[in-house]
Amino acid sequence: MRERQLLNTEAGAEEGPRPVASVIALLTWYDKARRKLPWRALPGEAADPWAVLVSEIMLQQTTVATVRSRFTPFLQRFPTPSALAAASMDEVLHAWQGLGYYRRARALKACAEAVVAIHGGVVPGDLPALLDLPGLGPYTARAVAAIAFNRMAVPVDANVARVLGRVIALELPPARAARTLQAAADTLADPIRPGDVAQALMELGALVCSPKVPSCLICPLQSDCRGFASGEPERYPGRPEVKERGARFAVMFLLEDPNGAFLFRQRPATGLLAGMIELPSTPWQAEPPDAPQVRDAAPIDAAWQEVPGEILHQFTHLDLSMRLMRARITASSPPGIWMPPEGFSTLALPTLTVRLLRHAGIWPEAGSKRSR
Ligand code: SF4
Repeated sequence: MRERQLLNTEAGAEEGPRPVASVIALLTWYDKARRKLPWRALPGEAADPWAVLVSEIMLQQTTVATVRSRFTPFLQRFPTPSALAAASMDEVLHAWQGLGYYRRARALKACAEAVVAIHGGVVPGDLPALLDLPGLGPYTARAVAAIAFNRMAVPVDANVARVLGRVIALELPPARAARTLQAAADTLADPIRPGDVAQALMELGALVCSPKVPSCLICPLQSDCRGFASGEPERYPGRPEVKERGARFAVMFLLEDPNGAFLFRQRPATGLLAGMIELPSTPWQAEPPDAPQVRDAAPIDAAWQEVPGEILHQFTHLDLSMRLMRARITASSPPGIWMPPEGFSTLALPTLTVRLLRHAGIWPEAGSKRSR
């Protein structure tokens, strides 16, 4: 009988390796519970390595529900690494809209370019070659190797770290126990269905071993889970220290010309929202800008009127509090990107900018969604 077992590999454990979970139970559960997802090959089907790679990068910091609706159009637009490598960065950022964390779009393009330059446009199948690609970290490289090429690799993302951290009752936060978690994951590597083991662990983390209330009673790993045995599985793995969020303040400017076009500018090529299109603004600063700072940052001397209300936008690490000033010009236009509302959808606008335009009542598609 084919049976793999997950060992307790936590540093300092007194009992030495011991079996705590079976791959058979995990795969049996997965065969029944697996979701049908656009990037996931059906049982018996060969996975498309490029589709797997794209989906894994999209899923890193975005929910399955969001990726589900955006994956297929993106892949239709860029069906191969060569297609993505040949596209401009603006095209890629525009196609990435709604997925957020645009750094990943840049990483994916760099990866596609390397696949074309080094591997003739074909995603390589072995782990060292995948690890050498720009934009692919250890998790994504392992995920592609396992899921697309059935290589013996078990990727550990946040969901899998939570599952394994509970199974071995890990006291440390996952970020401080990456090697322990990877070693635990590696004991589950299955020579016959490595891709399914990887996806089963991800699926278990998403559907059963949820962050706040894990559904232990239906979990295939329950009988071997130390966290469950403790009666407090949610305690594991340990939590990282909470960092204080930063606060920033800014005034944004909405300038309209006589033809009904509005002024935008492109953000710098590096840093937060790199390369995205935004409204001109004061610097984002620790204190609310005062009147001289607002005047100095305005794109033109005009009769600026404040649009009532304050908009709070939350990034992962900071809260940005914004006020919006609006004006119309009758003559000379300052340089920048001028676009009427019907053209907004052609710009790579982050959610932040869309929220400001909606706040001013000029976003043309009230129901459309954009990402950070
Ligand atoms: Fe998570 Fe509960 Fe399963 Fe343990 S038994 S892996 S805590 S769902």
